[in-house]
Amino acid sequence: MAIARVAAHNPLPLGPAVQVLCYHRINAADDGLSVMPHLFKEQMAWLAEHRRDVPAVRIDDAVRSLATGVSDRRSVVVTFDDGWADAISAGLPILAEHGFPAVSYLTTDFIGSPGYASRAQILEAMSAGVEIGCHTASHPDLRTCNRAELRVEIDDAKADLEDRFGVPVTSFAYPTGLFDDRTISAVRAAGFRTAVTCRRAWLGPRTDPLAIPRNTMENLDAATFAAAVGGGLNYLRVVEAGRRALVTRSGPRSGRAKAA
Ligand SMILES: [Zn+2]
Repeated sequence: MAIARVAAHNPLPLGPAVQVLCYHRINAADDGLSVMPHLFKEQMAWLAEHRRDVPAVRIDDAVRSLATGVSDRRSVVVTFDDGWADAISAGLPILAEHGFPAVSYLTTDFIGSPGYASRAQILEAMSAGVEIGCHTASHPDLRTCNRAELRVEIDDAKADLEDRFGVPVTSFAYPTGLFDDRTISAVRAAGFRTAVTCRRAWLGPRTDPLAIPRNTMENLDAATFAAAVGGGLNYLRVVEAGRRALVTRSGPRSGRAKAA
């Protein structure tokens, strides 16, 4: 990750820009989805220490302030995907300690199933200031869904969350970050104001709010996390695009996509 620290210095956008951070689980498992609790604590402590320079903001506020030109020069948004229980049990106390806003993108079929947060845990997170967003009903590759399936995964999942939790749900996350023009149109038609991907880049004034880039977070120490907040992981986009091209060439994968 030394390259991340070098890349953090170059190139930087000149205007205001936001790094949207993507977490899944907070635990000690080495599963590619988890960040260890002590490292998440270090990462959030770094953000707390630097909150004047790089405040943590809500995703709506990030987009709005970029659009209206009143943005802080740099800010971050903290997001969680899939609705894992340990993101709440281990992550929430740390977020609450610093008063950081966050958004938790929930997959409705997963709520209350083993490993995933229960309705009660989600309500607890909401009362501590966590926004809930939609991450579909069953976590499919939306590009492969027909029109009726898109309605179930996007419109119905939104309505389901709004019914269960009694709040408007206007933020969306594409499962595994996969989307296309048709998917974006469906998300827009359903009434979502923002939608996040897994493409690593800055969110800037010209970014489509329904195709917001994010950086997936890993077991980074504070110094490397600081570099990541400075855009130091954006270079991985090139590496990951190459990997996706290889996967595509080797043919379609079978089975349900791993929740990510
Ligand atoms: Zn996911």
